[in-house]
This record gives sequence, C-alpha cells and structure tokens, in this order.
Amino acid sequence: MFPNRFEYRRPGSLAEAVQILAENPDAKLLAGGHSLLPAMKLRLAAPSTLVDLSQIEGLRGIAANGALTIGALATYNQVHDSAAVRQAAPMLADTCGIVGDPQVRVRGTLGGSLAHADPAADLTAVVLALGGEVTVVGSGGERTIAADDLFVDLLTTSLAPEEIITEIRIPDLAGAKMAYEKHEHPASGYAVVGVAAVLAMGDGGTIRSARLAVTGATAKATRLSSAEAVLAGKTVRTETIAAAAAAAADGLEINGDLYASADYRRHLVGVLTRRALERATG
Ligand SMILES: Cc1cc2nc3c(=O)[nH]c(=O)nc-3n(C[C@H](O)[C@H](O)[C@H](O)COP(=O)(O)OP(=O)(O)OC[C@H]3O[C@@H](n4cnc5c(N)ncnc54)[C@H](O)[C@@H]3O)c2cc1C
Repeated sequence: MFPNRFEYRRPGSLAEAVQILAENPDAKLLAGGHSLLPAMKLRLAAPSTLVDLSQIEGLRGIAANGALTIGALATYNQVHDSAAVRQAAPMLADTCGIVGDPQVRVRGTLGGSLAHADPAADLTAVVLALGGEVTVVGSGGERTIAADDLFVDLLTTSLAPEEIITEIRIPDLAGAKMAYEKHEHPASGYAVVGVAAVLAMGDGGTIRSARLAVTGATAKATRLSSAEAVLAGKTVRTETIAAAAAAAADGLEINGDLYASADYRRHLVGVLTRRALERATG
C-alpha cells in the first residue's frame, strides 16, 4: 500500500520544526514512524508534510537526578537498556522491552507512543501510573503537561497541533514498588488489557498511596481510582490485593471488539490488577 503524496522536511532545530508545523496545519511529526507510517499507508492519515525530528539535537538523552528525564526521541531499546531508568523506574525499563517486536523497539520512541495515544499502547498506562509529565514546545513557548491531563480520548491528546513533546519526566519514586502486567494480542503484542501499578510505601509495609492505570480496556489510558482508594493506607496483604482487584473495573467504560468482548476485558482488568500488585509487592 502506498501513502498519499507528501512533502518531507527535516528541520535542524525545534524552532524550525515549530514554524513548519505552524505554517502547515495538516503536517505531522515523524519520530519512529511505527504508528504514523502504517496509518498513512492505510490512508487513515494523509498529512501534506512530514516533519522528521531525527536531526534535532538534544531529544534523545536520558538523565537521572532523583527525577528521571528522557528525551522524546529515545527509543524503546534505549530506555530499556538505560541503567538510570532501570534504577529509578524498573517498570518503565521492563515495559520498553516487551513492546511489539525487535523492529518496533529499535525505532519506536517514548515520545511518539505518548503523542499517538493508542488505546492499546503500553507506555501510556505506565507513564500515567508513574505520575509522569511531558515537556512540550510550541509557538506559545514551553509548557508542562501531567500525564493525568495528556490523554483526552481515543488517539487524542491535549497537545496543540503545533506542539512537540521534547522530554518525558518521571518524578523521584525512591522506595516505590511497581509492576506492569499485560495480556497481549498474539499478532501485534499490543495490550488487549494492561495494568500498571505503582505503590508509594510508608512505615511498616503500609501503602502510603497508590497509582494504577489501565490500557487496552478503555478509549484512553485511565487511572483505576477505585482500586487506588482500596489500597491507600492499607498494609500489603492477600486480602487487600484481592479487594483492589475486585474494585479495579468499577466505573470504567470498557470497550469490546471482535477479539475480546467488554465482559472479557472487564475480567482481565481484575486479573491483571491482582498480578501487577502481586509482582510489585512480591
Ligand atoms: C507491528 C507493530 C507492533 C506494535 N506493538 C506495540 C505494542 O505491543 N505496544 C505498544 O505500545 N505499541 C506498539 N506498537 C506501536 C509502536 O509502539 C509505535 O512506535 C508508537 O506507537 C509510536 O511511536 P513512534 O516513535 O513510532 O511514533 P510515530 O509513528 O513517528 O508517530 C506517532 C504519532 O505521534 C506524533 N509524534 C511523534 N513524536 C512526537 C513528538 N515528539 N511530539 C509530538 N508528537 C509526536 C506523530 O506526529 C504521529 O502522529 C506497534 C507497532 C507496530 C508497527
């Protein structure tokens, strides 16, 4: 399949990229291309201009200083292999090692995944549960968007059309317990359902606070607030985990499709919440 004709631009700076986007309202940024190019070949997307980010300096670095800062163009493999990420947020490193297949992981980027906001993406739920935020640059300057405010709907974020994610920031989570569990689609590896759990621990094995997020089940990555409420202030016990798993799907609008019905996905939300909590605390 061939995409529609498009103009190809490869700016050398963020300012130039922002200007091209501002001048071409239906232009699209190109990062790893693993979501955008298939969409173009299927004619689901037909941008007039592709703005390749690959020559812009400073979008790939990974730095840790309590908090973790990851350039938007860092690939899944780079995040997976980073000792700094593994130390600060092992769930993030591990998840980048199970996205798609080796070809996807060598080119796909963290920034591209968050900007695309696929309802079955892995990193959306992981970054949401980690309490991450993105820095974006646009014609109005720079701003920060919390992951809680980034995912708006199916394939839709709160980014303005001419805004570029430059980095992803994960707060200092020293001592937190975390794990991501997914039931993957056998063909693509995408999450039929995936649940990410991050527990901030207090004294004596008490859960000070919990952030859980689901992907695959709903139109966008979504916090599991009922399960979070069950966990906060409790000690880690089998019964606490079971109660959180039982409450996990409360209030969610769950999607069904030919591969997995809404009822099956609802069941998986509970199962994967239990598994994520068991692995995080085990
Ligand atoms: C066979 C296959 C299997 C896959 N399996 C999985 C899987 O198991 N789990 C999973 O999570 N994903 C999976 N994916 C998707 C993959 O992770 C993509 O790499 C990812 O969704 C998009 O990242 P990208 O860098 O390729 O972005 P691109 O495809 O280049 O861009 C995607 C969108 O984001 C925008 N964009 C990109 N970068 C930025 C930026 N810095 N700022 C603002 N907007 C930007 C683009 O304009 C475009 O609209 C799979 C893809 C394929 C082809």
